[in-house]
Amino acid sequence: MRNRYKPITLISLPFVAFFVLNTLFPLKIDKEYSPIILSQKDEFMHSYLTADDKWRMYTTLEEITPTLKQAILFKEDRFFYYHPGINPISIFRALIYNVFTGRRTSGASTITMQVARMLAPKERTYGNKVVEMFRALQLEWQFSKDEIFQLYLNLVPYGGNIEGVKSAAVLYFNKMPDHLSLAETTTLAIIPNRPNSLRLGRYNGFVQQERNKWLERFRVAGLFNEEAINDAINEPLSAMRTGSPQKAPHLSLRLKNQFPSQILIRSSVDMNIQTKTQAVLQQYIRQIYHRQIKNAVALVVDNATLQVKAYVGSADYHNPEDAGQVDGIRAIRSPGSTLKPFLYGLAIDQGLITPKTKIADVPVNFRGYQPQNYEEKFNGQVTIEYALAHSLNIPAVKVLDQIQPYVFIQELSKAGFAQIEKDKGHLGLSTVLGGCGVSLEELTVLYSAFANGGKKGKLNFLKTDTASFTQNILTKEANYMIAEVLTSVVRPDLPAHWQEAQNLPKVAWKTGTSYGRRDAWSIGFNKKYTVGVWVGNFSGHGVQELTGAGVAAPLLFKIFNAVDQESSKDWFAMPKGVNFRYVCSESGLTQSDFCNQEIIDYYIPGVSDYRNCLHSKFIYVSADSSKSYCQTCLPENGYVKALYPNYAADLLDYFETEKINYVKIPSHDETCERVFVEGAPKITSPVNRLEYLVDKTDSLQIMLSCQAANNVDRVFWYINDRFHESASANENIYFTPKEGEIKISCADDKGRHSDIKIDVKRISF
Ligand SMILES: [Zn+2]
Ligand SMILES: [Zn+2]
Repeated sequence: MRNRYKPITLISLPFVAFFVLNTLFPLKIDKEYSPIILSQKDEFMHSYLTADDKWRMYTTLEEITPTLKQAILFKEDRFFYYHPGINPISIFRALIYNVFTGRRTSGASTITMQVARMLAPKERTYGNKVVEMFRALQLEWQFSKDEIFQLYLNLVPYGGNIEGVKSAAVLYFNKMPDHLSLAETTTLAIIPNRPNSLRLGRYNGFVQQERNKWLERFRVAGLFNEEAINDAINEPLSAMRTGSPQKAPHLSLRLKNQFPSQILIRSSVDMNIQTKTQAVLQQYIRQIYHRQIKNAVALVVDNATLQVKAYVGSADYHNPEDAGQVDGIRAIRSPGSTLKPFLYGLAIDQGLITPKTKIADVPVNFRGYQPQNYEEKFNGQVTIEYALAHSLNIPAVKVLDQIQPYVFIQELSKAGFAQIEKDKGHLGLSTVLGGCGVSLEELTVLYSAFANGGKKGKLNFLKTDTASFTQNILTKEANYMIAEVLTSVVRPDLPAHWQEAQNLPKVAWKTGTSYGRRDAWSIGFNKKYTVGVWVGNFSGHGVQELTGAGVAAPLLFKIFNAVDQESSKDWFAMPKGVNFRYVCSESGLTQSDFCNQEIIDYYIPGVSDYRNCLHSKFIYVSADSSKSYCQTCLPENGYVKALYPNYAADLLDYFETEKINYVKIPSHDETCERVFVEGAPKITSPVNRLEYLVDKTDSLQIMLSCQAANNVDRVFWYINDRFHESASANENIYFTPKEGEIKISCADDKGRHSDIKIDVKRISF
């Protein structure tokens, strides 16, 4: 055995060498692609340059049409599917050519070798050619032919900073690669090796000549049918270098940043709705720009999927003067009155109110806080539905005081209001009037819950996202009542010129105006969509005309009409848990014997306030109604028992100061001796000057009781000089204390009173 090496070993030697080298010098593919944002229907919305300032867009396998493949393979590498990455025949041919002509040709490069070069560009030397061949073999080892072809299409240069067929198709033809004609495909097939002399847009005439030359070659080779070739030859070439599309720029940027490793982001945007919303909004701002109202923002959400269908973050992204790049959908601003529906909804769920509950819209003073109405007037007794539809401030603050600000703020935090959650330590009664920070996105999510029976979910931004309603922010019953009020059109925030309009869309909506007229809001919903609109200046500049009703509501209606023309009048069905009842029109409570005006109201059986109406009370008066009596001074005869209105203390105050006529109870019989003999009520609970420690998380109640004179019928309790509740003289009532020093006063029906003070500390036990 002279020869120790068998032929089989010799043959395997190159393979061993390949695997050793393959391990030592692994293939690196680290090309970064331009992120592309697509609409829900895969329309191209936006793309961004790579970090190395290239347009390098990723071509998917589906986008590689047979035409594109045939044209490129025919021109570049006819045996692509048959060689192992290098084509020995063409290498041999090129060598011969080079030896005889003394020139170099690159004709020997297969598509795989070109990919290797594009992955790691090097000088063109024979040595580098060998490296390229090795890399080509590696590519073939690791990838399928289709994958290598895809890599080629992704990296092939088109001059300037354009790489890849898709970048070229988008930037020159404004199309996706699978929508190119044969003429366009051929154009893109011939450019790569001569990107400078065949620069599209600059030398279109020459490019067209070259294109047609290749089309003739295709004809000869029988690649495409005659008719297709003729059409392609006759097709004019009008390619122009354009910028990448920049649709929905605020959302696109947001998604690009949110998904930094994704090359293709398929958004939930409906281009039709996006385009219409943007057009309506831009035209609207053009009309009011001269009034110093320069920006607007709109968000359209599909209620069933919670997918964002349109996202317009400013009037014009490309207007730096008005800070167009700021994403107004996420900006934190004062919500004005837009949180009121949620507050009333919570109060309905707590059984405190129903739509017809009466509440006094009169001046109030909450420990120094004296909210005013927008119109700076008071309306006396109003129903809750009137208060909401007219966006009255005082009733809202009163209801908030009843359910307690911290409860409301907690519910808002749970409903996703991030800034409110952050600021919860120093928010109070003004929260419901806009004394807090919210974004249009958060408000739109809140209203999308109103459109979904009180069920809230996160907004979806991607095509494949489905809705998950994880949270009930209101019961469907309370939600229904609120939605009904918001649907009514008899209200002051229906803009004047829409009142007679035939095309007023059927929507439930609420407007809001922030303090200083810096923000105008209007958020609305029908069964299909929830739309949020904000109008104002990003600079925060306030404008007298900037109101929710005057400026934001018209834009909201225009958007609804534009995006939901076929909206059926199909509306929300009343949930089974809602019922009707007759109530006294004076109070909204179930009728007592003396009530004579009834109206119909919604209520939730088992939840809504079931107390009987106390709008009147019986008083003993003299026959001529000149004086009233108590049990003590009641004469044996000559008196009558008469009904008198039972007004709340703050309403009486209002009647007095406004000099409004009302039915007064005759003054008490001055001969009544008990008044002067007995003293003022003595408060027996709580104890004067005592410190009360209350668990922070507990809404502990403190009992109020007193010893009143025998002739006293009713006593009146005041907390910090504010009327709290009236009670019979020996009745125990309760209140939930706030932190700090609290003054408690008790007055009797003879006008005598006494005060005590307690100190309440809320601590964590
Ligand atoms: Zn009544
Ligand atoms: Zn008396």
